[in-house]
Amino acid sequence: MFHVKPTFPTTIAAIATPVGRGGVGVIRVSGRNLADLAQTLSGRTVAPRTATLASFRDADNAIIDRGLLLYFPAPHSYTGEDVIELQGHGGPLVMQTLLKRCLALGANLARPGEFTERAFLNGKLDLAEAEAVADLIDAASEEAVKSAARSLSGEFSRRVRALVERLTDLRMHVEACIDFPEEEIDPADRAAQQAKLAQIQTLWVDLSREAKQGAVLRDGLTVALIGRPNVGKSSLLNRLAGDEVAIVTPIAGTTRDQVRATIHISGVPIHLIDTAGLRDTDDEVERIGIERTWMAVRKAGAALLISEAGEAIPPEQAAIAAQLPPDLPTLWVYNKIDLLGRPKQGGADGMGAVLDQVANSAANSLPISALTGEGVAALREWLLATAGWRPTGEGAFMARQRHVLALADAGGHLTRAGVNAAQFDLFAEELRLAQAALSSITGEFTPDDLLGEIFGKFCIGK
Ligand code: GDP
Repeated sequence: MFHVKPTFPTTIAAIATPVGRGGVGVIRVSGRNLADLAQTLSGRTVAPRTATLASFRDADNAIIDRGLLLYFPAPHSYTGEDVIELQGHGGPLVMQTLLKRCLALGANLARPGEFTERAFLNGKLDLAEAEAVADLIDAASEEAVKSAARSLSGEFSRRVRALVERLTDLRMHVEACIDFPEEEIDPADRAAQQAKLAQIQTLWVDLSREAKQGAVLRDGLTVALIGRPNVGKSSLLNRLAGDEVAIVTPIAGTTRDQVRATIHISGVPIHLIDTAGLRDTDDEVERIGIERTWMAVRKAGAALLISEAGEAIPPEQAAIAAQLPPDLPTLWVYNKIDLLGRPKQGGADGMGAVLDQVANSAANSLPISALTGEGVAALREWLLATAGWRPTGEGAFMARQRHVLALADAGGHLTRAGVNAAQFDLFAEELRLAQAALSSITGEFTPDDLLGEIFGKFCIGK
């Protein structure tokens, strides 16, 4: 890490466990000279890294709670500063009272993510690892937990750093050539540089692919369900969710009331936005339905146009379909195929009609039954493929859009480096820019406002 080790003037404290009642509640304090604070709180000297059973006392020496006190002197702590953990009883008032006592003893209330921010600034974690802390806490599937844990253990960062090291090495070679006249450069040197660049590009391709998978696992896909009431949107949602309880989670860019449910398919979160149904019963209601549909479409990464198999496509749905952004992946879903007869040879029966619908539709189409589950596996596959998930069998690490973009930026510079390889100064400059883009992932060169944005999204106490 290239950060100058900062010293923070303040001691910070927060309740680290969730609000509410629980067996145990934890208060975390980070700062300098916390041995004194521990002594004042507990009335005794506390040994480092030892669980000490103690009574936590208020200013009048009355006992607030009795619990475990842990003291981690700097630098061997989560934040790299002195850290104290008070493990008390997890009642909201006990915790509040203990926190107040810490504040009275000179601590400030920690901002969200401030402990991890200090850990980052003190070089305990790099930025990608710090982000993985938040992603692990927010993980909503087993796969997401595993991949965030891999990022937190530094696997992603190690891969990024390995690339940065190779780039540094190549830059040294190229920059050494800048000041020499063309004819003095050994052609073998040029060939070696090309070979090194090619190796870096190969590593970059692998890393980018895995990072994209990680970002899919974290962010998933937002899907707008577009169809009239009663076509089976809720039934389909439940069928897709399978045994899993569909949970409603707010995600960036969507409002809580719009995301009806988040389901996980192979660990990939699929956020389903219900459009409240299109109807043509009454003008005002229809107008609202159509407005909500467009709101959903604007936030969605894909759309399912759901109608009943064998029925004509309702005109308002056809109108919406015609105006969907051309690059929005769209699937026509014909539901309730169980109500139709089996196809007869060349017959114009129900299933035949569906097959006609499918054939006539320019977009992808899928006949399904939310009731029997027929076709639902194919729908799951479509959603996963549209989300960008490629089942590779290899364990992904957690990555964010920020990382994917930085990798893409680095890739652009690598390509331009290859194009300009004959001109050493341009070659070197592109390599430098590629390195800077990669280093922004681990946080060596990251502007302060970005840090504020990243850590601001953490929970308090972390
Ligand atoms: P929504 O208003 O679009 O959410 O529709 P619902 O999911 O509430 O379904 C409306 C009705 O259609 C309910 O009575 C469902 O049981 C029924 N339904 C939904 N999907 C199917 C299906 O695939 N086959 C049959 N036969 N009925 C279905």
